[in-house]
Amino acid sequence: MPTIIDGKKTSAEIKNEIAARVKEIKAAGGKVPHLAAVLVGNDGASQTYVGAKVKACEFVGFESTLVKLEDNVSEEALLKTVEEINENPDIDGLIVQLPLPKHISVEKVTAKIKPEKDVDGFTPANVGRMALNWPTYVAATPYGIVELLKRYEIETSGKHCVVIGRSHIVGSPMSILMARNDYPGNSTVTLTHSRTKNLKEIVKTADILIVAIGKPEFVTADMVKEGAVVIDVGIHRIEDASKKNGFRLIGDVKFDEVSAKSSAITPVPGGVGPMTIASLLYNTLLSAERKVYP
Ligand code: NAP
Repeated sequence: MPTIIDGKKTSAEIKNEIAARVKEIKAAGGKVPHLAAVLVGNDGASQTYVGAKVKACEFVGFESTLVKLEDNVSEEALLKTVEEINENPDIDGLIVQLPLPKHISVEKVTAKIKPEKDVDGFTPANVGRMALNWPTYVAATPYGIVELLKRYEIETSGKHCVVIGRSHIVGSPMSILMARNDYPGNSTVTLTHSRTKNLKEIVKTADILIVAIGKPEFVTADMVKEGAVVIDVGIHRIEDASKKNGFRLIGDVKFDEVSAKSSAITPVPGGVGPMTIASLLYNTLLSAERKVYP
């Protein structure tokens, strides 16, 4: 039986650890961490994500500010809002919920966020610091994966890690983190993408397989080496009439057959997904305690 890497449980543990630290800070008369989230427009999914982030702040005892802007807000006005939050000494962390409306440049907005407050870890400065293995805010999904590997004491040194997908938010940072001289890390990394030849053969040599391809149940048992550690980042809604809400969630990995061959695996749901909010809270705490930029 493989170890099921439980992101829901781990995320709850991290939140409790953060809540305990906030209690200590409050007891010592220190500054309560404060996260500001900017939400543009009325996209249902974005509202749900931001709502969950605000609720998580309440749970751990952080202060939070939610700035809601209309769908048709100008790029200039959004940049100004970011600047105001940048300059507000009471706010430790700033996130701008993505996606943004088409008339607004994500690059411009990201570049405007002060690296010291960039708790999403998206600014070039913080991505660069991650690549250099300097203290930084690691982006939510890579942070979640690293933390799961750590807490489940997965050996990574000298292992062959294959990453499927090279997105800026998951695959690329994971390949950097797994190759750095640290724990987790010290793996020999192969980063694959849509132009990769012989993908199946490469994947079959993975001791650690990180899948962020965005294709439902793409990885099947015949692609996976016996005893591999499998991290499934994918998340897809599949219609399912037997469910109350009419759908179920599946990953990029065919869980039932791949889990039978793996030594450890993240389920979907309940694997990587729940870790993302914990990471945001953790980065905000790092910022409030000046651990990244002293
Ligand atoms: P993405 O930006 O769509 O990137 C997908 C990557 O897969 C690209 O690099 C692409 O290659 C590669 N790819 C596509 N087809 C391929 C093929 N046939 N063979 C090999 N590589 C192929 O995806 P993402 O944003 O990283 O997200 C991936 C999945 O994770 C999605 O299901 C997403 O919903 C999920 N996700 C989950 C979380 C979470 O918290 N659980 C967070 C983020 C994302 P090219 O670069 O060559 O196009």
